[in-house]
Amino acid sequence: MTKLGGKVVVVTAAGQGIGRASALAYAAAGAKVWATDINDEALASLKGEANIETSKLDVLDAGSVTAFFERIGAVDVLFNCAGVVHGGSVLEMTDKDLDFAFDLNVRAMVRTIRAVLPGMLERGDGTIINMASIASSSKGVPNRCAYGTTKAAVIGLTKAIAADYVTRGIRCNAICPGTVESPSLEQRMRAQGNYDEARAAFIARQPMGRLGSPEEIAELAVYLAGATYTTGQAVGIDGGWSI
Ligand code: NAD
Repeated sequence: MTKLGGKVVVVTAAGQGIGRASALAYAAAGAKVWATDINDEALASLKGEANIETSKLDVLDAGSVTAFFERIGAVDVLFNCAGVVHGGSVLEMTDKDLDFAFDLNVRAMVRTIRAVLPGMLERGDGTIINMASIASSSKGVPNRCAYGTTKAAVIGLTKAIAADYVTRGIRCNAICPGTVESPSLEQRMRAQGNYDEARAAFIARQPMGRLGSPEEIAELAVYLAGATYTTGQAVGIDGGWSI
């Protein structure tokens, strides 16, 4: 089991879903965790958990990102988990959706990485984990143009950072989940009108015949934090979707 005793870990979008499960898993591995999210109420359920401090943080707001990282000091592990899913093909997505997807799925990662990287380089040690998806350069998924485009950019960003800093003690990897149970997935299924049909369709995409759990993805996030010979990888965890 990966041990992260004494490491300071920051997780974005830790209020629910994969981010929340990851904050708990990092804490269980002994890390001192900063669980952050734009949604204060969602973070409240983590208050009082051992090894976890919570803080409201909107990763779209450059000033808040700078102020937060200045306030907390040295960071050993950054898990950029915040992201948004837009539906639609290239003809259906709006420029506004695409801009928003780039801002939250890609530029927000650039913001947080710029905030932690100088300190990591000074110490010659640091790990960055970026949330991508199998819907990216790994796999074309129908009706997910803005999402797949921006998650492919996350993989490009991850590899660029890994290449630039591989000799300086910095590792950077991406996680590429298939379909995972989460509040936003639940919302998307309900929004489709026939919930049971929507759920069955999501499950049918997964060769294992079930959705992933946030805890399964969190295990990989913890593993990558301690995987000292792994960098520049886009690691699939998708119930066999990309076989
Ligand atoms: P979710 O979508 O249910 O929750 C997202 C969280 O992000 C919420 O707590 C929300 O408040 C927070 N958030 C939204 N905007 C924010 C902002 N500007 N700043 C900070 N926090 C903000 O969680 P999820 O489905 O587990 O998704 C988490 C990540 O995993 C996303 O990047 C998503 O694209 C990726 N992912 C999810 C799945 C899936 O099937 N659930 C699959 C592949 C990848």
